[in-house]
Amino acid sequence: MTDSSPKGDAPKSAPTAPVTQDVRTFPRKVEATDKINLVGLTRPALREALIEIGTKEKQAKMRAGQIWQWIYQKGVRDFDLMSNLAKDYRALLAEKCEIRVPEVVTKQVSEDGTRKYLVRIAGGHEVEIVYIPETDRGTLCVSSQVGCTLTCTFCHTGTQKLVRNLTAAEIIGQVMVARDDLGEWPKLGEANPPKVRLLSNIVLMGMGEPLYNFENVRDAMKIAMDPEGISLSRRRITLSTSGVVPEIWRTAEEIGCQLAVSFHATTDEVRDVLVPINKRWNIEALLEALRAYPKVSNSERITFEYVMLKDVNDSDEDAHRLMKLIEGIPAKINLIPFNEWPGAPYQRSSNNRIHAFADIVHNAGYSSPIRRPRGEDIMAACGQLKSETERARKSKKQIEKEAGLG
Ligand code: SAH
Ligand code: SF4
Repeated sequence: MTDSSPKGDAPKSAPTAPVTQDVRTFPRKVEATDKINLVGLTRPALREALIEIGTKEKQAKMRAGQIWQWIYQKGVRDFDLMSNLAKDYRALLAEKCEIRVPEVVTKQVSEDGTRKYLVRIAGGHEVEIVYIPETDRGTLCVSSQVGCTLTCTFCHTGTQKLVRNLTAAEIIGQVMVARDDLGEWPKLGEANPPKVRLLSNIVLMGMGEPLYNFENVRDAMKIAMDPEGISLSRRRITLSTSGVVPEIWRTAEEIGCQLAVSFHATTDEVRDVLVPINKRWNIEALLEALRAYPKVSNSERITFEYVMLKDVNDSDEDAHRLMKLIEGIPAKINLIPFNEWPGAPYQRSSNNRIHAFADIVHNAGYSSPIRRPRGEDIMAACGQLKSETERARKSKKQIEKEAGLG
């Protein structure tokens, strides 16, 4: 899900746990409570919640700051461990509030060190999170929705029928769950943030279209960036969108993270089929928003994701057309060899084709990394995410029809 690193060696920053095929199953239970979950609340909302349970208004801001640090800096889940709060106040918190993160159902570790977690959230829904260790960083691929309404024809997630937006708690909770598993909460006396980070980058490239769940994604990413907590720089967070144009402007203004866009085609005719949202906002409208993005967000290059589909979008003409379209936009082109899934209506372009395409992009002066599929043995690669438990799926016929092959 991130750029390929030139060497596929064991990463320096990789977790110390054995890198083997490892499936663990945890008991499933998500009981409903009427307690207020403090996870995922913005700072002002946390303060309000504390007032609601009886905290004096004058003290609420300070208490919110203290609790914030316990939750996001130290990873504490038990109010009783919050030693700078009075005992009876801790008891009040425990009675009225909770610190709830998604529950890990299974964890798989790929031969290449990629970890995939299946987590369970309220309502019994399940989403996947993928952790990808690389030489110089560790990237967490986070989901923003259960399923996706957008039905891109090459994407497994798009074949899932059921869709629900994740709450901000469920989104930032994925980061917290991964930090738990990586053992990355600082122990007493250790530096925070840690000097070498196992989880150093977040990409919103899991299940779902993040810009169809804008507020929750924004609030969760604000928490991830908060310097008194998980403290990741906005330059280490990349949001990938299929092209929800109005929300691209908002992303620039209200989040300011790095942007990746699922481009995938160089004519509206082809993009209408591959990324159907193109029928609403076509290539021209998308490019206009992308041109403005770096300035408005003060960010660097935009990543153009381009999935390589045999005989669909992978010709030399496509590469040349792509170069023409993005002229003037600071960009990096991330070529993604298509990851197959059962019933997929496409095939991966040949290696030669991918390299020929990459050469044209490279010769035009753009960086053109070919994304090395990670975690394929555990179906953790891009576009393969789809929880098995969400059984309802579209028929092969319907998928083919949407792809114009029926
Ligand atoms: N909904 C967002 C983010 C999630 S998808 C988006 O579409 O951008 C993350 C990336 O994986 C996107 O670029 C998506 O187009 C790509 N992808 C989806 N299915 C894929 C597949 N089967 N093979 C390779 N890449 C895929
Ligand atoms: Fe949704 Fe992205 Fe998959 Fe398209 S590629 S169906 S937008 S998750």
